[in-house]
Amino acid sequence: MKHSTPINNENNMSDANVATMSYVPRNYVPRDFLTNNHLAIEDAIGFNEYAEVLYEAGYKSAYHWCEKEAKLNHLSGIAVFEHYLNRLSQRGWGVFSFESVNADTGNAEVKLEYSSFVLSQPEKPGKLCNMFAGWFAGAMDWCTTRKGHYAYTNCEGIDCAAQYCSQSKCGDSSESFCIFTIKPSVTNLAAVNLAVTNQKA
Ligand SMILES: [Zn+2]
Repeated sequence: MKHSTPINNENNMSDANVATMSYVPRNYVPRDFLTNNHLAIEDAIGFNEYAEVLYEAGYKSAYHWCEKEAKLNHLSGIAVFEHYLNRLSQRGWGVFSFESVNADTGNAEVKLEYSSFVLSQPEKPGKLCNMFAGWFAGAMDWCTTRKGHYAYTNCEGIDCAAQYCSQSKCGDSSESFCIFTIKPSVTNLAAVNLAVTNQKA
């Protein structure tokens, strides 16, 4: 799959030199700048600790983004999640698509090709794309909440292209991709089951 250049006709620049897209203020930065900042924080506070902070922040951002974009574009259900993946792809994070998705159960597998974190660190092995994990759980939870069954999902696994590739050009082919697995969380499933039981009582 060729990495296509996104069609973008929604850019704007105000008199105060504030760049906006879809009416949201933006800062456009080089990929290396973003990656270097990301790695500096990771080194300072630790991989797991930083991943936890990113997960929570990303979850909230994705949830609110879906809420806002659903209203703005008159979308509902899984179409909002699809719109989210499309926007992420257009904005240079990588090429995102569903391998599978079921908003009734809260399960999904999101495929990521050409991850910006993998492409910017071509010789580094490991799970490089953990920043995205919370985003997909947040988007799925927006969908399940709107369907009224409150799955409260979690990104249970990241299968990163960079885990299997430590040579040059890792991630720069459609054969090399990352998979994020979204599932209802066990803890919250228990809460859902309890609510159902209480309704029947
Ligand atoms: Zn990855």
